[in-house]
This record gives sequence, C-alpha cells and structure tokens, in this order.
Amino acid sequence: MGLFSAISEWSNGRYEKKVAKMRELGKCPDCNGHGIEVMPYEHFFSSPYECPSCAGTGQFSDWMK
Ligand SMILES: [Zn+2]
Repeated sequence: MGLFSAISEWSNGRYEKKVAKMRELGKCPDCNGHGIEVMPYEHFFSSPYECPSCAGTGQFSDWMK
C-alpha cells in the first residue's frame, strides 16, 4: 500500500499543478487546449478523437463544467 499510495499522491499533486497552470492559460488540462486527445497505445492507427473533458473546445471553462 505504501508505495502505491506515495505514487498516487505524487501524481495527484502533479495533476493539480497542471490544472492550476492550465487555468491561468484558460486551456483544458486534459488535452492541453487542443480539443482532441490522442491515445498512443489503443488508438495508434486511428485518428484523434474529441476531448471528452472539454467537448473539443480546448477551453478551461468548458473543462470545469
Ligand atoms: Zn480538453
């Protein structure tokens, strides 16, 4: 549990920092404002799909909804 918990806290902290930065930029933190997400593993040969977090707008305000 200890190691997993530590990694989990570490990645949560990183994500929060990223969210704070992207909020300043006004961009969706999940797709970096691109509006699309690319999954390099499962969808390697398929085209990118619309970011589900911001519905493809890339706006932080939409990500908040
Ligand atoms: Zn997005």
